[in-house]
Amino acid sequence: VGRHPTPQAGPARVAGVDRIIAVGSGKGGVGKSTVSSNLAVALAKEGRRVGLLDADIYGPSQPRMMGVNQRPGSPDGKTIIPLKAHGVTMMSIGLMVDPDKAVVWRGPMLMGALQQMLGQVEWGELDVLIVDLPPGTGDVQLTLCQKTELTGAVVVSTPQDVALIDARKALDMFKSLKTPVLGLIENMSTFHCPSCGYETQIFGHGGVAAEAEKIGVPMLGSLPIDLDTRLAGDAGTPIAAGDSPMADAYRQLARRFID
Ligand code: ADP
Repeated sequence: VGRHPTPQAGPARVAGVDRIIAVGSGKGGVGKSTVSSNLAVALAKEGRRVGLLDADIYGPSQPRMMGVNQRPGSPDGKTIIPLKAHGVTMMSIGLMVDPDKAVVWRGPMLMGALQQMLGQVEWGELDVLIVDLPPGTGDVQLTLCQKTELTGAVVVSTPQDVALIDARKALDMFKSLKTPVLGLIENMSTFHCPSCGYETQIFGHGGVAAEAEKIGVPMLGSLPIDLDTRLAGDAGTPIAAGDSPMADAYRQLARRFID
């Protein structure tokens, strides 16, 4: 490393893909993967050609959340044929490695895997490719933002301070990498008790909207804590695939990404 410096190549497009939107977060567990899969499915239901790339190398959740577990085929040993689920073309590093084994990779291997998933997967013609990033501000985010022409990034956070503190770092990273921030999404914002109707702000309230206002980026939506969302994700059929107030909420969110 360093002995043969390669000239800095500009960010590349992914052939056939119109827009690439990265979904990031500061912390893990805030619902970034849930939002990514539901956004992808909602966009597909709106008639868009959608791809979902699970780039959360250390904790790939999309095979489970989208209900796929086959290994993608590679008839010529070079190109990889992605899978299709709920109207979405998808690929995950989780489909290429043993799901019970830890991925213990250094930066260069991660970058290789990411480049492979972008460049060697036969994405076909897509209106939008959603990229579910790992949490935080590491090698995968850096590589994606520098090497691939992104339309922009969205950041998911809960309203809780500990999540927002890290979300700010993710926002700062996108800013310094000159990746446009399309906006913030607040997840797990309130909880409506289904039996008594009482509303509880389990992780606080309004923090994400205040942050969006402060840094001057759009607040794209606010999603409640919802048992059915969690159950649907665990069952491999994202809530957005059905008909429910949550599916409508995701459809509304999706419309903010299409003209
Ligand atoms: P991340 O990608 O940020 O690590 P996940 O999408 O994996 O987060 O979500 C973490 C857990 O929280 C999962 O079990 C998921 O089903 C659940 N979850 C996410 N969003 C919601 C929500 N709005 N309501 C209820 N559970 C949720």
